[in-house]
Amino acid sequence: MPTNIEWTDLTDNIIRAKVGGWWCQKISEGCKNCYSEKLNKKSFFGGNKQPYSGQPPELVLDTEAIRKWGFQRKPKKHFVSSMTDVFGEWVPRFWQHEMLDGMFVAPKQIFQILTKRPEIMLSSINEWLSNHGLEELPSNIWVGTSIENRHTLEERSQFIAQIPAIFRFWSVEPLLKDLGDISQYLNDAQWLIIGGESGPDSRPCHIEWIESIVKQCSESKTPVFVKQLGANAYYQGQQFKTRDKKGGEIVEFPQELQVREFPFSIHE
Ligand code: SF4
Repeated sequence: MPTNIEWTDLTDNIIRAKVGGWWCQKISEGCKNCYSEKLNKKSFFGGNKQPYSGQPPELVLDTEAIRKWGFQRKPKKHFVSSMTDVFGEWVPRFWQHEMLDGMFVAPKQIFQILTKRPEIMLSSINEWLSNHGLEELPSNIWVGTSIENRHTLEERSQFIAQIPAIFRFWSVEPLLKDLGDISQYLNDAQWLIIGGESGPDSRPCHIEWIESIVKQCSESKTPVFVKQLGANAYYQGQQFKTRDKKGGEIVEFPQELQVREFPFSIHE
């Protein structure tokens, strides 16, 4: 499905609730204002109104959507399952492996998989690689984890770093605290996306925090994509107003943050 998420072309939600809508389980501070749960509460948007807590509803894997990847001619970037976490504890491992099989036979397509559970992603991918006699993921499968504060940086980046992949990325969104010195972790990341929180009740994001990450990425030559300042941005202690309600209009960013890079292979 086409999307207005700036760092991808399509969102492919291959796991859905059988009755319609989606489901996920909140796991950390970054999930507090989950956009997917908000959409799922709206029946006119196809949601089932179930909160993202408790027991999952009956779920289905869209095997037809996976099968179609192999027939798509035009190369696109696919953000796979923007509405849930494919590596959630409740997702059967063979579904994760069916997804990877579909990606493997679609080498022209780029698949961007993002999780807040990189320890499950690591063990599932290692099992899939070993089942196929492979040593690492092909370059069209990009594995990423969400990072929102120092704690999730230290915890999640170590698991992502161990995944045998050519492209590992972090989605630093919503950025809720200053990450501080990230230089020692950046060697293991090939791409960073950064964004403040958007939507109702957005928590503050200080532009200085984004500046610090962008500066460190530039020093380590890590491509970085500044997606948005968020709906509640601060700069030098003052609220930083933007016309765009997500603070996602690049021309409204301070000059040094007008950076939207991709890992090199995308330009090849
Ligand atoms: S992991 Fe993502 S989709 Fe799932 S509850 Fe958290 S923010 Fe929402």
